[in-house]
Amino acid sequence: MPLVPLKPVLDAARAHGYAQGAFNVNAVCQAKAAIEVHEMFRSPVILQGADLANAFMGGRADFANGTVEDKIRGAKNIGAAVRRFAEESPVPVVLHLDHGHDLESVKAAIDGGYTSVMIDGSSLPFEENKELTREVVLYAHARGVSVEGELGVLAGVEDDVSSLTSTYTDPLAAIEFIRDTKVDALAISYGTMHGPSKGKGVKLRREIPTAIRECLLHAGIECALVSHGSSTVPQYLVEEINGLGGDVQGAYGIPMPELLAAIPCGINKINVDTDIRLAVTRNLRELFKLRPELADSKSAGPIHDLLAANPAQVDPRAFLPPIYPTVMYGEVPDEDVAAVVAAIEAGVKEAVGTLVVEFGSVGRSPLVERVGLDEMAARYAKAGL
Ligand SMILES: [Zn+2]
Repeated sequence: MPLVPLKPVLDAARAHGYAQGAFNVNAVCQAKAAIEVHEMFRSPVILQGADLANAFMGGRADFANGTVEDKIRGAKNIGAAVRRFAEESPVPVVLHLDHGHDLESVKAAIDGGYTSVMIDGSSLPFEENKELTREVVLYAHARGVSVEGELGVLAGVEDDVSSLTSTYTDPLAAIEFIRDTKVDALAISYGTMHGPSKGKGVKLRREIPTAIRECLLHAGIECALVSHGSSTVPQYLVEEINGLGGDVQGAYGIPMPELLAAIPCGINKINVDTDIRLAVTRNLRELFKLRPELADSKSAGPIHDLLAANPAQVDPRAFLPPIYPTVMYGEVPDEDVAAVVAAIEAGVKEAVGTLVVEFGSVGRSPLVERVGLDEMAARYAKAGL
C-alpha cells in the first residue's frame, strides 16, 4: 500500500496504549530489512531519515557538511526505495524526517516522498520555536503530511543535534505549544539523551509525560508524545564489538524497564538509532573475522580497512562510503558486497525486531487506519488545522 502519514499510526498507538518504535535508517538495505522484520511481526512501521542522513544518502560521505542539494538527492533516493517496499508490504509504513532544522529541509523531505516531518526548533526561544513549527505545520498539513515538534532540550550528541545539558519540558508550555502550532506529535525532554553515552542507570521523569497527557485530555487536544534519544544500548553488543577489535567505552542506554514504564504515561513513539548502529557494526566486524579473505576484496575490502582504522566508531556511515551505490540505490554489484548487505540487514533485524516486541507493536497493523495524504490534507483543511 502507499506510504501513510504518521498521525494514523500514532492515533492507533494512543488508543490502544502501546508504543511504536521509530527507527533511523542510513541506507536502502537498512530500510528494506527494517520493513521486513516489522512484516514478520505484523507491526506498523515508522522509518526515520535524519536530516544529515539524507545528505549521506545523497552521496555526501562528509554528511555533516551536506548541502540542501545533497539532502534533496538523498531524500529522493530513500523516498523512492521506501515507497517501493511499502507498496508491496501488507503493513502500513511511514517515512519520517528526523530533526529537520528549517523549512528547506522539510521541503526537501516532502518532495522526496516523506509522509511525516519533524521540525526541531527546541534550541530557539519559545516564541520563535512556535513560529517556525507553525510555519512547517501549515506547509505540511496542506499536503497531508504529519508534523512532530520538539519542546525542551535533550542532552547528548547525535548528528548535528547536540547539547551538554538538558532542560526538561515544562508541561504547561507544552500544552500552549501544541494548541498554538497544531502539531500531531511532540518530542519532550524528560531524561532521555541522544547518543550512545547516556550514563549508567538513567531514571526518566515520567511525571512530565503524565502531566502533559492529563492536561491535553482536559483541554480536549489530541497529540502523541515522543521519546527521543531512547536507545537501550544492549551491553552484549558493546562487548561483542570490543571482542572483535572494537574499542567502545562508556556506552550505556536507557534501561528497558524505564522506557516501558513511560509508555502508559503517554509516550507513543520511541526513537532508536544507536541500537541499530551497534548491531550493524558488530555484524560488519564479525563478517570480516569469519571471512578474512574479504579483506582483500576489491569491492568490500575497503570497509574492512575503515573498521580497522576506527575501533571506537559505531556509526556505520563511517564504514559504508566504499559501497555508495548500495547505500543510495540498493545496488549489489557482486557476491562480496552481497555478504556485506546480508550482515547489515541481519543487524537491523536483530535490533529492530527486539524493540518491536518490547514496545508492544506486534500484531497492531490492522489497528491503523489506511489513510492517504490527500484524504489527510482534506481532513486537516476541514478541521482548520
Ligand atoms: Zn532526536
